[in-house]
Amino acid sequence: MKTGVIARYRDFLPVTDHTPPLTLNEGDTPLIRSRRLAELLGVPELYFKYEGTNPTGSFKDRGMVVAVAKALEAGSRAVICASTGNTSAAAAAYAARAGLEAIVVIPRGKIAGGKLAQALIHGARIVAVDGSFDDALRIVRTLIERHPLALVNSINPHRIEGQATAAYEIVDALGDAPDVLCLPVGNAGNITAYWEGFKRYHRAGRASQRPRLFGFQAAGAAPIVLGRPVERPSTVATAIRIGNPASWQRAVRARDESGGRIEAVTDEEIVDAYRLLASHEGIFCELASAASVAGLRKALANGWLDGSERIVCVLTGHGLKDPDTAIRLGGRPEPVPPRVEAVEAYLGL
Ligand SMILES: *Cc1c(COP(=O)(O)O)cnc(C)c1O
Repeated sequence: MKTGVIARYRDFLPVTDHTPPLTLNEGDTPLIRSRRLAELLGVPELYFKYEGTNPTGSFKDRGMVVAVAKALEAGSRAVICASTGNTSAAAAAYAARAGLEAIVVIPRGKIAGGKLAQALIHGARIVAVDGSFDDALRIVRTLIERHPLALVNSINPHRIEGQATAAYEIVDALGDAPDVLCLPVGNAGNITAYWEGFKRYHRAGRASQRPRLFGFQAAGAAPIVLGRPVERPSTVATAIRIGNPASWQRAVRARDESGGRIEAVTDEEIVDAYRLLASHEGIFCELASAASVAGLRKALANGWLDGSERIVCVLTGHGLKDPDTAIRLGGRPEPVPPRVEAVEAYLGL
């Protein structure tokens, strides 16, 4: 088995004989058949594409490995990105692997601890701006015009190409494209990438159909749903706290071409889905990831889907990125004296 997305999907990626074979063995993530949640929701065929098992814990690795390999090929010395956290973690790791410098611009105080830890320990130069992700991206876009830095945000087309490999994996695992794909939408690079991937695989004869794409934004950060940028996006799901998505138009096109929808889910619905995935399926994902399942519940409740479809929900990142949130929601355990009787009394045994 070839390891890493560049080796595995070479024919579908913009790689040449001169592209370095960079990899941290990203991709090849599990497509997990739902049991208890499928039953709860009345959906016989539901799967989770669990991207938390990627090397840095999110799907961002798929696009980053291609973007950094292409930056190396082009002779770049440094990569730069704006990030809500996972892009910076992936950029820092792959730059370290490649021997490049990484600069990451993040909104100060709005990055989950695990993601910041990753960027720090991989040796990225971190700039924490007093502003939003959208501010960070605007600054980075100007910096790349003035300095020889390779941009590795998802507006870099190589990122989108790399992320499309998740669609290939789903088709390869199921033997065809699913009927419906549900996923969270932030900067909208991933919904764009999945659509490109499904279309390409379909054209290549690897799938008989293309899925309908159901994208979900957080209600406090739902510019595509509202049809206008959101000045001060707000949601517990930091990875999709974005008010002016870079791939807005392409996401709308993916929605319309696929016959899908882009809708909003509330923070409460996201947290419920996050808990359900952990308690009923044994899958610990990020809050933002749970927007896909929150959205599926909404789609079923509103009759947008009838449940007979073969459905895949993308779980974009690992819950351990942000343990503080899980502990806050779960409630820290009370201390108990170190005696058997005390433990029995506590447990009610
Ligand atoms: C980046 C990210 C998203 C949003 O993806 P976009 O491509 O920005 O729409 C969702 N979940 C997680 C965990 C992410 O890291």
